[in-house]
Amino acid sequence: MKLHPVLIAAAGALAAATPALAQTPATCPADPVRLDFAHAGGNRFDVTVEAQGASGVLDILWRPGEGAQDGTADFIEDLRFGDDPRPPRYMGYGTWQHPGGEAAGWDGYSYTLVADHDRAVWEVGKEETAYRFDDAFYFTGNPVLVLNHAWTDCTFDIAFDLPEDWQVVAAWPQTGPGRYRVEGLNDVVRNIFVTGPGLAPQTFDVDGMAVTLLAQQPLADGVADFRRVLEDSLTRYAQTFGGVPMERYLVVFGEGQMNDGGAFAQSFGQRMPAPFRPHERLMWARTLAHETLHAWLGVTIRPVPYAQSQWFTEGGADYFAMKTLYRAGLVDEPDVIFMLEGQIRRFLLGRIASGAISLAEAGEDKQANRQLVYGGGALFHYLLDARMTDQSGPGAYEAALESLYRSADRDYSQARLLAALDARSDGAASEILALLDGPFDPFGLLATLDETGLATAAFGPDEILVRFAAGDCAGSRENACMPAFLQR
Ligand SMILES: [Zn+2]
Repeated sequence: MKLHPVLIAAAGALAAATPALAQTPATCPADPVRLDFAHAGGNRFDVTVEAQGASGVLDILWRPGEGAQDGTADFIEDLRFGDDPRPPRYMGYGTWQHPGGEAAGWDGYSYTLVADHDRAVWEVGKEETAYRFDDAFYFTGNPVLVLNHAWTDCTFDIAFDLPEDWQVVAAWPQTGPGRYRVEGLNDVVRNIFVTGPGLAPQTFDVDGMAVTLLAQQPLADGVADFRRVLEDSLTRYAQTFGGVPMERYLVVFGEGQMNDGGAFAQSFGQRMPAPFRPHERLMWARTLAHETLHAWLGVTIRPVPYAQSQWFTEGGADYFAMKTLYRAGLVDEPDVIFMLEGQIRRFLLGRIASGAISLAEAGEDKQANRQLVYGGGALFHYLLDARMTDQSGPGAYEAALESLYRSADRDYSQARLLAALDARSDGAASEILALLDGPFDPFGLLATLDETGLATAAFGPDEILVRFAAGDCAGSRENACMPAFLQR
């Protein structure tokens, strides 16, 4: 649950240092740019890019890893521009320049990708980088595809040249076997692709979105359960928002030491310990429901600037994933209690750890202020759902989410988000945010939560107890005592 769609525009701006040579204003060279990805034996792949009339520097997303001296650049070998025998100028941190300097034009380049990323431990996790996937190879585009990051709006033809018994599993639009046409650099590099033998993907439809699920062999026992959680939660998201945000979505489950995940443009990589352990269901189901919800809330309903409203998209993904999992019958009442206790505790501990900063400010350094961003954001959504249900009846909160999604302009500043929600909640959205950003008052907050139909108790901010106390209930774990807006 670490990283979320990162705009690569900043990288593009850096790469655009080359003087404008082209006669067209577009930053694309040949249209389309052609990328060939060929297996060269063992764990080696030859990548060839044809881009007639191009210039500028080439980049990967450079990431540090313990055991890789030059991070993700360690795995890129023998980069050459066309027939030029001279090696490129390596600028460090995964950036290469033509040997003729920054003004030189070129028509293409090639390199060897050595898929040996498992020899390093990646700071962001291997699901954000690359790893061996049984006999196949899992890649995210950014650290392995060397491209000019100024090609943001270009069309890419991607062709795989693979042994007979290999296949490719990707979220890209397909034009033939092993052939893809992708619009825009972001969809090329901010996505997962898996290639190799022995892959058994399954694809199902959610309201017109083709969802492909692929799991590593050691997790095979979990596939039926993964599919049920995915299918049920995605179907409910499609109903809530009134549609699906993309035509294809790929979810890949790989083996890892802990539950973790990385969300990309049209794909999501989840890791969990193998063999599959049924008692961990709540952990991976919650991650899966949170990350896939980002396709609507975070990728489509998009905070601008991104950091400022991360509390809204992260907290909303935590809160609404919890509500959806419960209503779909995928988790039970004690699981909801566990999650609510966690959300309250995270907010209180986050306020102590991060000091007197707003949720918006906390998003500027999300990793450091993680508890405040996620906990505060989740409580915002919880309290907004409670207030809107009170004011307008069941479904009012969901209707507000839908209205954000259906807007013609889905880039939201915090001010625009609040204005849209205030208009539907008689100003409750701004009031709730002011409460969470206001003076630190743990007992005042717990009293506010109790008014929604909870019975809370605390032993300091680090021990929170939640029971349900709606209606005449004194405090229980039963569905009938839950606040009505959470009940199923
Ligand atoms: Zn998230």
